[in-house]
Amino acid sequence: MNKFGTRTEYTPVTQIDGVPVKKLIADYGSPCFVISERTIRDRYKNALRAFKSRYPKVQFAWSYKTNYLNAVCNTYHSEGSWAEVVSIFEYEKALRNGVPGTKIIFNGPDKTESDLRRAIEHNSMIHIDHFDELYLLAEILQESKQKARVAIRVNMDTGIYPIWDRFGFNYEDGSAWSAINKIFVHPEMELVGLHCHIGTYMLSTNAYAIATGKLCDLVVSIKRSYNKQIEYIDLGGGFASANTLKGSYLQGGDIIPSMDDYAESITSTILNFGFKPDELPILFLETGRALVDDAAYLLGSVIAIKRLSDGRRATIMDFGVNLLFTAFWYDHRISPAQELSAQTEDMVMYGPLCMNIDVVRESINLPLLNKGDQVVVHRVGAYNMTQWMQFIQMRPKVVMIGMDGSPHIVRENESLDTMLRYEKVPKHLLNFKL
Ligand SMILES: *Cc1c(COP(=O)(O)O)cnc(C)c1O
Repeated sequence: MNKFGTRTEYTPVTQIDGVPVKKLIADYGSPCFVISERTIRDRYKNALRAFKSRYPKVQFAWSYKTNYLNAVCNTYHSEGSWAEVVSIFEYEKALRNGVPGTKIIFNGPDKTESDLRRAIEHNSMIHIDHFDELYLLAEILQESKQKARVAIRVNMDTGIYPIWDRFGFNYEDGSAWSAINKIFVHPEMELVGLHCHIGTYMLSTNAYAIATGKLCDLVVSIKRSYNKQIEYIDLGGGFASANTLKGSYLQGGDIIPSMDDYAESITSTILNFGFKPDELPILFLETGRALVDDAAYLLGSVIAIKRLSDGRRATIMDFGVNLLFTAFWYDHRISPAQELSAQTEDMVMYGPLCMNIDVVRESINLPLLNKGDQVVVHRVGAYNMTQWMQFIQMRPKVVMIGMDGSPHIVRENESLDTMLRYEKVPKHLLNFKL
């Protein structure tokens, strides 16, 4: 409900990229995730255009944690995107996908000694998160007589609160500058970049202008103090997708900045900063959510209809927060997958888990769905296929519709065998009598 009244999804969504939803469910089961390769490429090309037309020295790096299915990552890589990872597992995944180590950005607070050695061996960009990591890296490099290309993650006040100051070195209190000074006494570390990731689902383009300005300030100070040209600044991710946040008065799609708005804010800050043309840094972007959210759908079916004790209609689906982790903070758009009567009702939409938290939508106005009817949940590409839980239910198939309209399974559904493969039962518990 907003001031314009209640929004209702009468219009059925019967196909995705030309493939009938009913056929997808018949062939791959319910629930299942469906990814559009075309939408991934379209959104990526639009973002690249928005930045490149304003500032040609731009390079995207795909944020693995947003969606690390190989088919998805490789679609971005085939468009020219590098990889941005936050754990050794993601790092190895990127290497195995064929991304050269020099085109992997290794972020995050958790890099062990062996993780760092691996990143040094492949000459990746190591983005240092804290002093303990800096000292450990220095120790490894001194002892092994190797060199590393590093950046520091900087956190700062951009006018958005709370500040994400748990990651990286703070700008205002001088920690970032102090980390830079510590790096320059280590000839085995080359400071090649400066990184920040100021938050996620950021609705303010001005916050990016402020962050860009602060990173540019550091680039200039480093040039002045050390006569060293910093190669790149990395503005991280965090651009909003068109999903609607819970409690938001307006639809997400009506309030989020466009890719051009974000691009204008960041690139004009760099261009107006006063760099000599040959000293303009490369701009890295680690956009996740805003690129991939639109590209995936979750298809599911109604298990049952109930009346709650207060008379409200409850619709129980075969997918819940186990597959739709983002239902905790978004009111996902949900469309019926077939023509239904025009009569609608406010309803609660529950998932299949035997658990009170399993709510897909607390209140949604939809035509009267009945047992067996199917729905399409929109914009589920970001963070669901990585944060999904194997809890009560196992994970379903993920299908990608290719550019020619043919569906491909890109992840098989899990089965009891998947689960049992990792379990071990001590001998004395193998047999029992009831
Ligand atoms: C999660 C993350 C991203 C991607 O963020 P989105 O909000 O999905 O764009 C980029 N960089 C870093 C360091 C991250 O942790």
